[in-house]
Amino acid sequence: MQNFEQFEKHESGIRSYCRSFPVVFKQARGAELITREGKAYIDFLAGAGTLNYGHNNPVLKKALIEYLEADGLTHGLDMYTEAKERFLETFHRVILEPRGMGNFVVQFSGPTGSNSVEAALKLARKVTGRQNVISFTNGFHGCTIGALAVTGNGHHRGASGVPLTDVSRMPYANYFGDKVNTISMMDKLLSDPSSGIDKPAAVIVEVVQGEGGLNAASAEWMRKLEKLCRKHEMLLIVDDIQAGCGRTGTFFSFEEMGIKPDIVTLSKSLSGYGLPFAVVLIRRDLDQWEPGEHNGTFRGNNHAFVTAAAAFEHFWKTDEFAKSVQAKGKIIKERMQRIVSKVGPDSLFVKGRGMMLGISCPDGDTAAAVCREAFKHGLVIETSGNHSQVVKCLCPLVITEEQIDKAMTILDAAFATVFSEQVKTQAS
Ligand code: PMP
Repeated sequence: MQNFEQFEKHESGIRSYCRSFPVVFKQARGAELITREGKAYIDFLAGAGTLNYGHNNPVLKKALIEYLEADGLTHGLDMYTEAKERFLETFHRVILEPRGMGNFVVQFSGPTGSNSVEAALKLARKVTGRQNVISFTNGFHGCTIGALAVTGNGHHRGASGVPLTDVSRMPYANYFGDKVNTISMMDKLLSDPSSGIDKPAAVIVEVVQGEGGLNAASAEWMRKLEKLCRKHEMLLIVDDIQAGCGRTGTFFSFEEMGIKPDIVTLSKSLSGYGLPFAVVLIRRDLDQWEPGEHNGTFRGNNHAFVTAAAAFEHFWKTDEFAKSVQAKGKIIKERMQRIVSKVGPDSLFVKGRGMMLGISCPDGDTAAAVCREAFKHGLVIETSGNHSQVVKCLCPLVITEEQIDKAMTILDAAFATVFSEQVKTQAS
């Protein structure tokens, strides 16, 4: 019998993931979570995309332990430290420069994704002198007020307590199906002085919508969006907090699309070790902040600097890791297609890109039932989407093929059980 007394007595009712996975975890390694009773689960949640390199990645752990043992700074406000110097140099050399982004500077915005979204929006408004921002249906950008205003999710928006303003919501790629060109629609609205849309400072977009149900924009749509931004003098902010750091098979989700965002937000897997860390990447000419104008105590998580730099050096100096992500993405997708064809393509379909994949179910109850069934058999997996209808596979990118096989076998059986129960219920 599990004992959750301390949590139930002392933790706020706001807790949520623990309700889907009612066990107490004690250890975690690679793609595996281990409870205090010693039961192992394969982790297809991975800190909601924060553990791309797995739990306690040995390379990152070694770098961190060495740093701790040498009494390296933990906290440094935004002072110069050796750890930050190494992070900046490595990030520039290994990630930015080879991707034609050598002209970007880094703002340390505070540790969470929402912190970096807030900073990005604030900067775009400051630089352009405009208030309005365009964001998209089913976009998710965080739960602080500014980030929440650009977020679509009604459940989260409902808790804001104040009006969420200065945003114009537009339909994301394929929101109305593939025959409706949502870019032309936006162009018309933005070109009409009486459309009621105030001239925006920026557009904020996820290239693959993580929380919104793994809706993936095509390269063509992203290129047209970039063109639209140039035409209407709006800054293009790509929120790569969930889709970045290798999740789609390249470091940035947009890098093979031939677009150049003006501002990029990164967090989640940036530290690589699950340490809180977020940045805003700003094209140098847009870096119009006054010193300290946007502040924050926790902008210098030096442990995150150490593990992030170690991750860049270890995983990103060649394209070997990216290729392995692309290959594993294909394997997972194939296994998903098999599930879909077994259960019936009328009911299910595969969504997403790279290793950011999911299976869309007819409704949220079915998806939740699949996740519950999978959990019973050793797989931690969650849903996303506007009706929580997408069973979302967000496993660590370092997962082994053997673990993928085991997890997909569990998932396959979970779908079979849930759908056979549905058939039984309908028949009776
Ligand atoms: N942007 C995106 C795309 C996200 O997926 C998230 C978190 N799910 C955020 C922003 C907010 O990040 P955080 O929860 O760290 O504030």
